[in-house]
Amino acid sequence: MNTVHHHDRNKEWAVGTVSKLSPMNDPWDPIGSLKRYGEHRLTSVEMTVAQVCNMRCEHCAVGHTLIMREPNMLPLDLMLKKLDQVRDLETISITGGEPTFHMSTVKDYIIPILKYARERGIRSQLNSNVTLDYARYEMIAPYLDVMHISFNYTNAMDFHEVGFVHSNHQISSSVTGKWFDQMMENTRKLTEGGLLVSAESMINYRTHHKLGEIHRLIDEMGCQRHEVHPMYPSSFASSLPVLSIDNFRQSINQLLDVRNKEMWMLFGTLPFYGCSTNPEDHTLLKRLYEEPNVTVRNDPDGRNRLNVNMFNGEVYVTDFADIPSFGSIYEEELDDIFNRWLSTHPLAQSVNCHCPSAACCGPNLLVANMYYPNVDFMNRQSNITLG
Ligand code: SF4
Repeated sequence: MNTVHHHDRNKEWAVGTVSKLSPMNDPWDPIGSLKRYGEHRLTSVEMTVAQVCNMRCEHCAVGHTLIMREPNMLPLDLMLKKLDQVRDLETISITGGEPTFHMSTVKDYIIPILKYARERGIRSQLNSNVTLDYARYEMIAPYLDVMHISFNYTNAMDFHEVGFVHSNHQISSSVTGKWFDQMMENTRKLTEGGLLVSAESMINYRTHHKLGEIHRLIDEMGCQRHEVHPMYPSSFASSLPVLSIDNFRQSINQLLDVRNKEMWMLFGTLPFYGCSTNPEDHTLLKRLYEEPNVTVRNDPDGRNRLNVNMFNGEVYVTDFADIPSFGSIYEEELDDIFNRWLSTHPLAQSVNCHCPSAACCGPNLLVANMYYPNVDFMNRQSNITLG
């Protein structure tokens, strides 16, 4: 464990220790900073650096914003200055589209931002499909903490069906097959080189009965973490069949039965809470808590994280569809935008609950809206005690 001191012009950042990421140490989980400060703070900034992608996944959460040619990005110096101003920053994430699509983005934005994070002692994640040539990922790896990939496939045909369904021109399965092989090969090389690769699968109508097989392939590629989220209907996914809460519960239990218990499994945006009145939810939450190397991450959106669109400077607090941009980095500091959201927005207040006994700090807004439209979470309490 190394203590990081960083001096910048007139100030020293409040950075603590940089310790290995593990099931015991996930700085993306907002409950860590909530416990430490007694309130939610902005500790995580996500930056959207691409609106282009070689894929068009049927579940893509930003599918409708993908374009063919993108405008210029805002100056790197401005973004670094804005990060500098975030007092309690602990993590950054870089996302797209496919962030590595243009080599110029890799060289002029991604690597400088990752270097900044390293120097400041904060953790970094890049969301990529890793289907492109290995050289660009190799350039990035030395500066990165977590390479986050999507993996919802059992074979190349799955990849073809899931990944290109919204393309506006036909892409042959021989082309997508090559990308599939390259993705698996790139992932193997990155994990062999020691980079933490976290593969995310979603539980949806296609995957819910074959998560065990998907998990096996993720294990085979050497991924150190498997991240699992239920799929909720936003953007491209809004027209897909929806699974019931019972389906989600069942497929998580099945996956836990067959998984590699040595691998870190991270579940997120789950629709199960300690305040549920359903004993099956309690049983599952207890199982998740007690299983070795399994964690349940609280939802960061609007709790400890903001998203900055690097093309126009707009700032988003959550991908909940009802909330458009909540400010601009041209006009305000990120801490101020975040505090304004927390203290003034009724939706932020509606899910701002915290039950330490269930290690829970409230539901995701989209989940609350979809599955619990009439529940007032601010008037509920956990019915279980974990640990
Ligand atoms: S923090 Fe909120 S969602 Fe979680 S158990 Fe408590 S009342 Fe329920």
